[in-house]
Amino acid sequence: MTHPTTPASDADLLAEVVDLVGELGQTLEWIQMGGADVLPVEAPLGRDERAALLERPPRVARPMPASRPPQAMGGPPGQAHPPPSQPSGPSRQPSLGNWGQFLQKSPPAHVVGALDRAATLDAVRSELGDCQRCGLCRGRRNIVFGVGSETADLMVIGEGPGANEDRVGEPFVGKAGQMLDRMLANVLGLERSQVYIANVVKCRPPGNRNPEAEEVARCRPFLLAQMRVIQPKIVLVLGSVASRAVFGTSAGITRLRGSWRDLEYPGGRARAMPTFHPAYLLRQPGEKRKTFEDLKAVKAALAQPA
Ligand code: URA
Repeated sequence: MTHPTTPASDADLLAEVVDLVGELGQTLEWIQMGGADVLPVEAPLGRDERAALLERPPRVARPMPASRPPQAMGGPPGQAHPPPSQPSGPSRQPSLGNWGQFLQKSPPAHVVGALDRAATLDAVRSELGDCQRCGLCRGRRNIVFGVGSETADLMVIGEGPGANEDRVGEPFVGKAGQMLDRMLANVLGLERSQVYIANVVKCRPPGNRNPEAEEVARCRPFLLAQMRVIQPKIVLVLGSVASRAVFGTSAGITRLRGSWRDLEYPGGRARAMPTFHPAYLLRQPGEKRKTFEDLKAVKAALAQPA
């Protein structure tokens, strides 16, 4: 049986595709321009700046089906076709989308310098302070900075704290954490105190949603500072969200996992292995074998002389 499609649903689909392509384009531009490293780390955004960043970029003009109700077009009734806020045409500069305002700012040297000079994890933690650099501060109970050895050869990077981690103030303490502990102990023969575990964002995203690009960007200098202090030889990156943040790629973990990547951080470099997130393995135990292979490669790399 065939399912008839209406012109309106085709137009909706097309609109979604145009939006997705636009967002992908913005991400690629951002990565090309240096990614999160060029973003300021100093102050929380003001209300106006935040509002401007959250505003969607003007949509590419496209024909709207006459049957579509105005409230479904992204604006209140009567404002279905607002004039574009910028002129379009061949002379227009390529758009940086929502990232433009970030990229045009440079961080004050004294703020970046203080973090750069932090020689211990305690010093990095005190630079982080009672962080208000992004909206995640509003919903958190605790900042989840990281846990483990300051001289670890292996650093594990996850996505962000969940409810348990937020309550306890330590990464990977829930069910996924128990799975991570088993992965470390059973395959690598390591206790969590012998590695260093951190996340790409240090505060819990509400409702366990994925962290947003702005939140990852605000936290990234602190992750890099943790790496600069620890100087890990090997980095194990857990899941798609962490891999995207760490490697600046849009590829998913299924494609990335199992292949080594070189990772540069301030003052050093590491070999990095992306693998499935333990929370995913809890849902898909059939995939554990692949992570087991990835961890065996990590074990072999850890055993190699520096
Ligand atoms: N998942 C993560 O990515 N990090 C945590 O700390 C806990 C769960």
